[in-house]
Amino acid sequence: MTSTSQELFDRARRRIPGGVNSPVRAFGSVGMTPPFIASAEGDRITDADGREYIDFVCSWGPMILGHGHPAVRDAVDRAVRGGLSFGAATEREVQMAELICAIVPNIDMIRMVNSGTEAVMSAVRAARGFTGRDKLIKFSGCYHGHSDAMLVAAGSGLMTQGIPGSAGVPAGCTKDTLSAEYNDLAGVAALFDANPGEIAAVIVEPVGANMGVVPPADGFLEGLRDLCDKNGALLIFDEVITGFRLALGGAQEYYGVRADLCTFGKIIGGGMPVGAYGGRRDVMETVAPLGPVYQAGTLSGNPVAMAAGLAQLTVLKNTPDFYGALNRTAERFFSELDGALRDVPHTLNRVGSLGCVFFTGDPVTDYASAKKSSTSRFTAWFRHMLERGVYLAPSQFEAMFLSSAHSEEDLARTLAAAREFRP
Ligand SMILES: *Cc1c(COP(=O)(O)O)cnc(C)c1O
Repeated sequence: MTSTSQELFDRARRRIPGGVNSPVRAFGSVGMTPPFIASAEGDRITDADGREYIDFVCSWGPMILGHGHPAVRDAVDRAVRGGLSFGAATEREVQMAELICAIVPNIDMIRMVNSGTEAVMSAVRAARGFTGRDKLIKFSGCYHGHSDAMLVAAGSGLMTQGIPGSAGVPAGCTKDTLSAEYNDLAGVAALFDANPGEIAAVIVEPVGANMGVVPPADGFLEGLRDLCDKNGALLIFDEVITGFRLALGGAQEYYGVRADLCTFGKIIGGGMPVGAYGGRRDVMETVAPLGPVYQAGTLSGNPVAMAAGLAQLTVLKNTPDFYGALNRTAERFFSELDGALRDVPHTLNRVGSLGCVFFTGDPVTDYASAKKSSTSRFTAWFRHMLERGVYLAPSQFEAMFLSSAHSEEDLARTLAAAREFRP
């Protein structure tokens, strides 16, 4: 019997590269046909064959309130009737900028874009324009979207010059991107010493969330702050996942470390395509039309997208103890998941409502240790859970996302399924 998802995937592959509009959706690393999703509500998604799953992907983070939250849905409904796009300034953009500056520390000004990729690309340009320097330090295993300069392969050594991690990226585009290892301050210091006066910025995921979940070691983020200050470089927190996730004010609030610039995506749009970058006034004032750093967008600040994002951020802000409650639920759930897998060698990393099971008994603190996880065991785990109606990210190197819509009953069902896992 052929499923509707299988038929759709066959059709899709004829007309869309790999059948998908973003590679991880093809389920390549778990060797399966992806379920095509027809609808979602709360903590459940339903595929084209009518099968329902408990959703731990949450659109890769945005659905922190679960799917179809009434406040977000109503705001979008109203916005749609007012017009889909004007390509002109609107009140909602002002409200969005004011709200973010009020709830996120150290954001004096902010610019809306349409994706996390665009946010990072633009923040990096602003950092280079402001400092008059070209070089950047990023970390192996941190993902910052698919712009040319950010697609640098995991460096094999601390002093490694950037090597493009994708075909089609000219070496010239990545020659100024230097790689360090996550949680290795000495490596970052060495790169600063080897490139005096040349580093525009250090960009980091304050919690590594694109190599599974890798927390910053004690003092790592503070150490980056110090190194940037000593060397006249900017510190960019890529908060596309951590923003409005760890705390209302993101990782800056959660860890108490100040960034010069932050990038946002995912949660900020409430499920619509939105990104943003913001930070210090003097840096943001270099952006056009105020300053010489050019950056623009036909659909940036789109009225429907702004309505969705504003509605979601407003619920997050106005719900008493939203993050306390979500993080406590996550703490309990992930520690029970850890226990459910006690007979399988693994390491469970969790920060706030982000968690990840690595199938290695060793601690996971950077990209190299994350890669020690058994991906064949992950595949068995993924299939086991999917067969029992639990939809995890189809890759070892992605996070599990918890939302406020995850019910006690569904979390208990997930744990029961996990306890049956016998690799
Ligand atoms: C998802 C992600 C991006 C890219 O965002 P897109 O909206 O997919 O372009 C950038 N940085 C981080 C940390 C991300 O998780």
